[in-house]
Amino acid sequence: MAIIEVNGLHKAYNGKPAVDGVTFDVQEGEIFGILGPNGAGKTTTVECVEGLRIPDAGTVRVAGLDPVADHEQVTRLLGVQLQESELQAKLTVREALELYSAFYSDPADWRPLAARLGLESKLTTRFAKLSGGQKQRLFIALSLIGNPRVVVLDELTTGLDPRARRDTWTLIEEIRDSGVTVLLVTHFMEEAQRLCDRIAVIDKGRVAALDTPSGLISRSTASTVISFTPSEPLGERELAALPEASAVEYKGDRVTINGTDETVNAVISLLAVRHVTARQLRVTEASLDDAFLDLTTDATSTAATTTTGTAGTAGTSEETEERV
Ligand code: ADP
Repeated sequence: MAIIEVNGLHKAYNGKPAVDGVTFDVQEGEIFGILGPNGAGKTTTVECVEGLRIPDAGTVRVAGLDPVADHEQVTRLLGVQLQESELQAKLTVREALELYSAFYSDPADWRPLAARLGLESKLTTRFAKLSGGQKQRLFIALSLIGNPRVVVLDELTTGLDPRARRDTWTLIEEIRDSGVTVLLVTHFMEEAQRLCDRIAVIDKGRVAALDTPSGLISRSTASTVISFTPSEPLGERELAALPEASAVEYKGDRVTINGTDETVNAVISLLAVRHVTARQLRVTEASLDDAFLDLTTDATSTAATTTTGTAGTAGTSEETEERV
């Protein structure tokens, strides 16, 4: 069953489209990723799901409800991760947990939640004194206090060291395993590949592809790359005619073939039939990175900004629209 349905969503700022016809649905119980370069429209999309922005066109439904018209009910269903600026520096972990519990009529008990998230020993620590990983764990705890059906996590691991990032991934999987659907906004390929059941790749306000991580990889023009130096030359045309081969290139006497697993089998059969040996045979699988580069136009700049990018900011635009 779809718990989130986004259909033909459009949203422009100062006449400039930020989201330009986005359609996807999130099934109950999955970790659904929204992946894309900075400025692609990910946060705007998610803010429309949260009812924080009013779409210019299209529909958004959360459990069948309209996030703007039925804002109160949708707020109860959604656990939204705070941005760092939204929590006072002097608040202790305990105070933050108690404060957020008070917002809900039937909150989860924050004590086991704090224990599950490894915050027990930090209850008297002020927010400003927490490490990056501890802050993120507190944000996760706060987003779960209202017993949500869906939790929305936007660039949760940006700025974390690799260890803290991996710990956070384990927590996200535990949230899903406890029955909560996760909508995860990220520009980390590894994160999306490891965690997400399905991913919508968003580029320039549009869905460039929507699939499982392995589905996205297999769409990549170079899902498997086979390279070797044949003991006898093999014809380029003959290699290009092998099943699923998409490109063949000779550099000196070394040949590189882009294809799929089926192409690998066909190459091996051809070598056997011809009694040709392959020296330094290498088979490499494409990664989600390769698929992403294929699918998006501005992915190189994203790769370079992995630790500095912060979604939810409005960039350098002079006129910024406030959230509702
Ligand atoms: P992402 O989350 O993928 O980085 P955003 O949804 O934050 O993308 O931004 C999409 C585009 O909309 C960007 O060009 C950004 O500068 C612009 N934008 C985002 N928020 C605002 C805002 N509040 N006011 C004006 N422009 C905005």
